[in-house]
Amino acid sequence: MNKIALVTGSNRGIGYATVKELLKKHYTVILTSRSKEDGKKAFEKLKSYGDLYHHQLDVSNEESVSKIAEYIKNTFDRLDVLINNAGINYDTWHTASSASMEEVMQTMNTNLFGAWRMAQAVIPLMKKQKSGHIVNVSSGAGAFNGMGAGTPGYSISKAAMNALTIKLAHDLKGNHILVNAVCPGWVRTDMGGMTATRSPKKGAETIIWAAELEDKSLTGKFFRDMKEIEW
Ligand code: NDP
Repeated sequence: MNKIALVTGSNRGIGYATVKELLKKHYTVILTSRSKEDGKKAFEKLKSYGDLYHHQLDVSNEESVSKIAEYIKNTFDRLDVLINNAGINYDTWHTASSASMEEVMQTMNTNLFGAWRMAQAVIPLMKKQKSGHIVNVSSGAGAFNGMGAGTPGYSISKAAMNALTIKLAHDLKGNHILVNAVCPGWVRTDMGGMTATRSPKKGAETIIWAAELEDKSLTGKFFRDMKEIEW
């Protein structure tokens, strides 16, 4: 039986590339998108690569997260891999002293609470099957030693996501569920911009590697290029 993976925010960018690579590796994949229409377009482009499903998902909305949890339970009754990829607001135009708090709260609601909600929604299934991988797509901008003046909302949301990774990893150790954070590097997407050095496929590489780790001691860590990096 194929393993089942869900990728949040996968109608474009790194999430889209991750879905494509997972399909090539014979996963059954649930492509999710805020906009049904955008998701359907991505689904049409990727369906020839393998066993693909599409479902609407806005990670900032509790009802939407509950609906997808119900869909997964009713359709598959298991989930092997959750990739928390959805992310917003690389706020280079702000500093911590000038950031709009409304914008910061929106950023937190997607980048941090979205990932947290999704983890809580699927953990019961993973616990039941006594296995699972949760990969939080983070950023070097969220490492405390990498924090400069810019992108305050984004950087702090990713630092908090890294903290969430450690907390979940501890909670789930006895359940054989690995939780790790990955920095994909600087990737050519709408967020990264077209001058970025990496392709979306390269960005997806370590995400997928982390979704396939078998060594149970590799949990609660932060990786880039398949190597542990500092928080
Ligand atoms: P993009 O902006 O290209 O794509 C972001 C994706 O997230 C889109 O599919 C978007 O959907 C989705 N999304 C946004 N908000 C929500 C929401 N509330 N619910 C569900 N989906 C949502 O970004 P990237 O592909 O570059 O980034 C993917 C991840 O990688 C992010 O977490 C980002 O922080 C991280 N990252 C990216 C880097 C880069 O250089 N690109 C570097 C380091 C980390 P929609 O189309 O509807 O907007």
